[in-house]
Parts: sequence; structure tokens; C-alpha cells
Amino acid sequence: MQKPILEIKGLHKRFGDHHVLRGIDFSVAAGERIAIIGGGPTGIGVARELIEEYCGGMADGHAFKAYLPGGASGGILPASLADIPLDFGTLAEHDSFVGSHAVIILSDRDNVADAALNLMRFFAHESCGQCTPCREGTGWMMRVMERLVRGEAEIEEIDMLLSVTRQVEGHTICALGDAAAWPIQGLIRHFRDEIEDRIKARKTGRAGAMAAE
Ligand code: SF4
Repeated sequence: MQKPILEIKGLHKRFGDHHVLRGIDFSVAAGERIAIIGGGPTGIGVARELIEEYCGGMADGHAFKAYLPGGASGGILPASLADIPLDFGTLAEHDSFVGSHAVIILSDRDNVADAALNLMRFFAHESCGQCTPCREGTGWMMRVMERLVRGEAEIEEIDMLLSVTRQVEGHTICALGDAAAWPIQGLIRHFRDEIEDRIKARKTGRAGAMAAE
């Protein structure tokens, strides 16, 4: 059985249960590497409150590292921004979005680049192909992300990837293009050192040692 990275306060202890706490409906799903708090916690002000007050905090051995305020489509923010209001205007200032209200929590045992790649695979798969920036862009971004995650890309490609996200964002028929761009933008803006480190590690032969850690 997978271990959770969040603990639930209140009557229920089983993850996946539906919860009503202080009049707010929400549910929590948690696994070894990810936790999702969904069901519309719209009355909750900030992510830190959601974790600490409604879910009882991170599980032992896990530190809060990052979160996706709007599920797959809401971008990625660092824990240092866990005290900003989960509303449309504030999140937009950080190129983020309340999206599905399914807040996803990452711990220090998760890798944000891996999470972003997972999202890119989803968006590339879901692209209907109707408009060019999304049809071509999501697949291209996914392939670059795969190389970045493996450490096989060049450092300069990080800015190239960021530039392509800007060409996809706002240039598509539906919001899938924006949603695909934001996780990568969040990754590069807040966790650029992690992907640069993968590239440097591979070039210096440190990648094998990192994988073994
Ligand atoms: S942005 Fe929307 S309409 Fe355009 S290709 Fe992507 S999924 Fe289809």
C-alpha cells in the first residue's frame, strides 16, 4: 500500500474519502509521490492553510516543496508562495490558475521536473490537433522536457523551451495551450536549478550517482 504524504485531521483517515470540515467539501488522494486535494476547496485561503489546517500537515519524513494550485492546468508554484490567496487575480500574477481546484502537493521526495514532464505527456496526448501551436507545440515541449529530465539537453535549450511556451500560450483556440505552457513556465521560473543540475550532472558523469541516491 502506498504511503501518503499528507495526513488527514478529523473523522476520516482513509485517503480518497470525501470530507466536510468547517463547512468545506473536499477530498484528498495521496500516494507515495503525490497528494491531491480536490472537490473545490474554494473557501480555503492559501495552500499552507489547506495543508496545515485541513489535512493535518505533511506526513513524517516529507517536507512541503511545491504545489499545483489548479490541478494539471494551473501551473506549478514553490512552497515559498504557499501563502498567496488561491483566487483568480492573485494566481494570474504568478502565471497560475485555480483550474479544477484540485490542488496537488509535491514533497521534497518528488521531482518537479518529473511532474512537469508527466503533465506535458498528458497535454500532448490530449491535444486535438485543431490548431498548430498546440498540435506542434505540446509534442515539441514534451520531447524537450524528456531530454531535460534525462539531462541530455543543453542549458541553452531551457530558454528556448520557455520561449516556445510563450508562443503557445494565448495563441490557441481553447485553454489547453495555456494549460500546457504554465507547468513548464513554473518549473523554469522556480526550479530552474534542478533541471540545470541534471544537465550538468550528466555532462560530468554525476548522473549515475544521482540516480542511485
Ligand atoms: S488548443 Fe485546444 S483546440 Fe487547439 S489543438 Fe489544442 S486542444 Fe485542440
